[in-house]
Amino acid sequence: MSTTSYQKVFVIGLDGATYDLVLPWVEQGKLPTFARLMEKGSWGMLKSVIPPVTPPAWSSFLTGMTPGRHGIYTFLQREPGSYILRPINATFRKVPDIGILLNQCGKQVALVNIPTTYPPRPINGLLVTGLTTPGRNNEFTYPPSLKEELIGRFDYEIERYEKYTPGSEDSFIAAVNRVEDKRLNATLWLMDQVDWSLFAVVFRGTDVLAHAMWRHIDPQHPAHEPELFGRYGDALLKHYQKMDQAIAAIQNKLDADTLLMIVSDHGFGAMYRDVYIDNVLVEAGLLHIKKTPMAQLRSALLRLGISPHNILRLLEALHVRNLTRKLIPKQAQTAINQGMLMTNHVDWMHTKAYPLGGGSLISINLAGREPAGIVKAGSEYEEVCNQVETEFYKLRDPGTGERIVKRIWHKEEIYNGRISDLVPELPDLYIEWVDDHYTDIGGVGYSQRTISDPLRGRSGGHTMRGLFLAHGKGIKSGYKIQDAGLIDIAPTILYALDVAVSRAMDGQVLLEIFEDGDNRVIQYQDIDMREAEALHKFSSQEQQTIEEHLKNLGYL
Ligand SMILES: [Zn+2]
Repeated sequence: MSTTSYQKVFVIGLDGATYDLVLPWVEQGKLPTFARLMEKGSWGMLKSVIPPVTPPAWSSFLTGMTPGRHGIYTFLQREPGSYILRPINATFRKVPDIGILLNQCGKQVALVNIPTTYPPRPINGLLVTGLTTPGRNNEFTYPPSLKEELIGRFDYEIERYEKYTPGSEDSFIAAVNRVEDKRLNATLWLMDQVDWSLFAVVFRGTDVLAHAMWRHIDPQHPAHEPELFGRYGDALLKHYQKMDQAIAAIQNKLDADTLLMIVSDHGFGAMYRDVYIDNVLVEAGLLHIKKTPMAQLRSALLRLGISPHNILRLLEALHVRNLTRKLIPKQAQTAINQGMLMTNHVDWMHTKAYPLGGGSLISINLAGREPAGIVKAGSEYEEVCNQVETEFYKLRDPGTGERIVKRIWHKEEIYNGRISDLVPELPDLYIEWVDDHYTDIGGVGYSQRTISDPLRGRSGGHTMRGLFLAHGKGIKSGYKIQDAGLIDIAPTILYALDVAVSRAMDGQVLLEIFEDGDNRVIQYQDIDMREAEALHKFSSQEQQTIEEHLKNLGYL
């Protein structure tokens, strides 16, 4: 056959799903839909982006570009020209997404619950926004009337907003399942509402539950409690089985000429320790905290071993977490809750390197770029980068004595030098942890430590090993693809729909999944790169809500 182009592509996004879990479960006969689709389709590991964090990753899915080009690189990003952190939203994206490209050639698109799509914008088709939507009281759909339909028909919820703490497993698991059941029902209904060429929906439970439940499936985990294994050891499997059934329910509604893809934005694995990267930089003399009376009182308390970290631990152990609000000053509470550096406590005039916003990213306080930058471009910049590297390579796991940093990446290396001028505040360095077993957390003035056991109920963390599967007529059967990347998905969707691929994309069409008879030539087009638009700024109330939510999810 000379062409295998499709009329329609349906993408099921499973946030954080990984073959590290799926493969053994498939082999044990526990995921029949996955087993069937893998046997009849093409599948393999899908390399995430750096950092392998939900918003940059889904933004790369939407654009076929790396975070260095599309402009979303973590959860909270520094507003250019200031040290203020803002939760990201769709307006942080500097380039057109695949929905815009398909609309431009007259095709309708349905995008449901994809992180980084809030605030909703007019689209030919329909849009239901995802993670970093403040809540369902906000406008979260296009057309706007869709919101009332979704809430009226399905009591639709965007995310599970409750916090997970060890001990709250039952209600937590039930809440995650409830939200995803509603999402599936809404999706099955939405599939009939517009004549879509691309339908993409993201289910987030696979990520949310893995963050919380990993300790129950990993006997090596420091937070593993053998007596809970019988109760929660299969919670994650059960959720994957729910998704396996969801995939079957969706596939049942698809026409024969629809290409079905399953993708995840990153993989998942055990997360053994928190690393207080702020403290590492403070101890190295690269980050300085103001000598205010408050800061001094705090350091006196710390010398006595009284830190908000300890208090929080104690309260969590006693399951009286809500009392925290009364006992700890609001400002300290915010810092603990966010687990983040408080920018107004930083002595910027003496600070050379700082982490902001999560994602194991470090910025150099560069003169001319940062508002109070002191490090000169050129040799001084290189020297500070080297110092940061030296300090982080020194870190050892307190349990094993082994090095915990695998590699420090410079932004030019990560993105092959392809970085947009529209993302001037892109952090300079990225820390890759050994086996992805560590995660960054801020803690200046709130802990004497640099490394601790996971503090916030989070026992699983992200890896680069995402998941890919394609199934449809014209797709190779039982074929295992080796080098697929998340940035390749958007160009592959365009190719499948016979739409010219944007030359600006960083990813490549995954030609090898198409049967050998498919000798269509890839068409390319130059697209108008969107001018950077004014950033949508959340109100302080919305910002607080989103940060609280991200914290509850264990991201901050
Ligand atoms: Zn994710």
